[in-house]
Amino acid sequence: MKKVIIVLLMISSLLWGAQVTRVKWKSGEKFSSYLQSKHISLSVLKTLDELEEQVVGDIRSGQIFYELKDDKGTLLQALIPISSTMQIKLSKDTQSDKYRFSIVPIKFKDEKYFASVDISKNPWSDISKNTHNDKLTAQIKKALRNNISKLQKGDNISFLYTQKTLVGYLHGDPIMHVIKVTKGDKEQFVYIDDDGIGHKEPFETISYMTDSPRTAIFRETSHASISSRKFSMPVRNPRITSPFSYGRYHPVLRIYRPHFGTDFGVKRGTPIMSIGNGVVTYVGWLGGYGKAIKIQHSNGYMSIYGHLSGFRTTVGDVAQEGDVIGYSGNTGTSTGPHLHLGVYLNNSPIDPMSVLSEGSSIADKLLDKMSDAIGGGQVAQTKKIPIFNAEKYRDILESHISNKTPSYDWKKFESQRAQDQLDENFQ
Ligand SMILES: [Zn+2]
Repeated sequence: MKKVIIVLLMISSLLWGAQVTRVKWKSGEKFSSYLQSKHISLSVLKTLDELEEQVVGDIRSGQIFYELKDDKGTLLQALIPISSTMQIKLSKDTQSDKYRFSIVPIKFKDEKYFASVDISKNPWSDISKNTHNDKLTAQIKKALRNNISKLQKGDNISFLYTQKTLVGYLHGDPIMHVIKVTKGDKEQFVYIDDDGIGHKEPFETISYMTDSPRTAIFRETSHASISSRKFSMPVRNPRITSPFSYGRYHPVLRIYRPHFGTDFGVKRGTPIMSIGNGVVTYVGWLGGYGKAIKIQHSNGYMSIYGHLSGFRTTVGDVAQEGDVIGYSGNTGTSTGPHLHLGVYLNNSPIDPMSVLSEGSSIADKLLDKMSDAIGGGQVAQTKKIPIFNAEKYRDILESHISNKTPSYDWKKFESQRAQDQLDENFQ
């Protein structure tokens, strides 16, 4: 019991008079110059492994991050997001006064909120005015498109959504779940799928026309799995030995380490193929990835192939999907021969398996055949889209409405911010 009290006293004295500020990562700022600007010894950099070095090199210009400073302005902690789920934590040890570097999960508050708005003037400004969360309006606009005729004075719109918050600030876009629109005595629900698109039924069968180029139509209804499989496998007979992960717990170091790619178990010397058409932008040694190749694809995609033994391409080459660009090996930080494949979208790592396919799917081939036969004409398709938890969310929304729950007002949240700031991220 005594111990607990002492620890609590230490935390409260550490945070006494401490303040959180929200900062933007300066354009082009290096992590080392950030440390220097805070009078932190660069020796902390020596504790970083190659992966962590890569992470600090990848902090984006304009990235929002949080600093906790004491009343003299000394940095106690900095929390710098590196992905949507992981963050760098730089913290001052109260005993040794030294700074510690770690990569830890971001602890969001992730809660559901309810709001009900009577339309009096303009529906969009009414929603913004009542909720003080402007991003809600855009989500609702998107969800109601093609489902609800114009909202008018006297109508009511009620909705249930999830909003993340982080150290006393709104974090990211709200996620809309279900909307109820009441026009006179007419009521209608709109259920929202993972893409933010609204549907009149919790299980919706939609018809759509494929056109030429069909990708434009598929993007509109982006549930089609065909459109998300953009690239092909980098090796034949792929066997995954380690998947992509934002936070892989390292049992020895006892820290979370991201794995920004997929590892394929392959024998040394296996031909490595480009996953798509693109331009080779890097061939050479790349830190922990050893001998590596980078290929820039269209639409902001980039692929990295690591731990290679040899190259069969040079910078500036145009690679076609399936071209052999090198051979697998065991170079860099690697415990055995394997291929590390990283895929990045607009410089952010994504799970390669979300965009890789083993050749074209049968549906894709059939669709191609049909489109070809009609000479790029239109083909009618139908698709059933399940919307997860649709009924459950509708029931929650209905109970809020019948209980006359007051709308959540984010202005109140802003005034409480000081209390929410020293949340568990800073412990
Ligand atoms: Zn890997």
